[in-house]
Amino acid sequence: MDELRKDPTRSNWVLIRPKPTPRPDDGCLYCPGNEGRSGPEIAAYRKDSLGANGPGWTVRVVPESDPYFRIEHELVREGVGMFDMITARGASELILESPKHGDTLATISPAQVEAVLWMYRDRLLDLKRDHQIRDIMISRRHRKPGVPPHHPYSRVTAIPIVFAATRRELREARDYYQYKRRCLYCDILRQEIANEERIVRLTRGFAVLVPYAARSPLETWIVPRQHACAYEEALSAESAAELARLTTDYFRTLARGFGDPGYELQLHNAPNVRSRILQGDWATIRDDYHWHMEIVVHPERANRIGGIYVNERPPETCAAELRAHWPG
Ligand SMILES: [Zn+2]
Ligand SMILES: [Zn+2]
Repeated sequence: MDELRKDPTRSNWVLIRPKPTPRPDDGCLYCPGNEGRSGPEIAAYRKDSLGANGPGWTVRVVPESDPYFRIEHELVREGVGMFDMITARGASELILESPKHGDTLATISPAQVEAVLWMYRDRLLDLKRDHQIRDIMISRRHRKPGVPPHHPYSRVTAIPIVFAATRRELREARDYYQYKRRCLYCDILRQEIANEERIVRLTRGFAVLVPYAARSPLETWIVPRQHACAYEEALSAESAAELARLTTDYFRTLARGFGDPGYELQLHNAPNVRSRILQGDWATIRDDYHWHMEIVVHPERANRIGGIYVNERPPETCAAELRAHWPG
């Protein structure tokens, strides 16, 4: 069985699994008409009330064809001598963002992006009912090197541990809060909005900004101005429409002004607090953590020297360029 093993010298988890047999290349599994081949539908929005596993959908969620994490696995935590092992119980799902094979976040309408954002919420709410799932990552890659163009989707990865990057971010937010009794992200927002230099776009509900210490050129965060730790609890009719509009505009800016570069988008969100193991875990998370989205352009090109990122385009310049190419 697939196992997560912990490297005790780094506190990193590694998934040990057999190499999958490659799937024969016989067209897109996710285009309308092929619903029967993509695995049982997990959720979908359909304009007309046609049945599941058929066409007519606008957004559809299916299991990943070769999942890293499976809901069917039994959760086993085991000590193997001095080592720790957990079975790969979780979920690997794809949120198909459009029925059209060639769509990207820069070509689909804001209304369609909004439907995708609601589906993010639905999947988070549903998966967080499972107490054995500790963390859920929603991400999307565009033009990943070495990967042929594919049907547009976001990936949902739900796991029985907390992702290392989430854990680090949560710890920093908690420590900042313990010291200052204020949310780190609210403080960043206040300063960046006052300073203006790195703000790309400011609306009633959101700030689009290039972070002070951007790891690579064009790194961008979309941060809600209203404090909330969990995306799925914070999304409202108003904020979903606004976020959809901003997301569409942002990716159109990248596509038209910057040559449609590859990127990775990640929703940074609170983990599943219902999976709390120790009494004091995440005691102040509602006040100390602040959900947001991060976009890294060409993540594979990020330049590092001994773990220190080297970014040769100042964040202030990138913010100005993004502002200059913003539509409208
Ligand atoms: Zn397709
Ligand atoms: Zn905050």
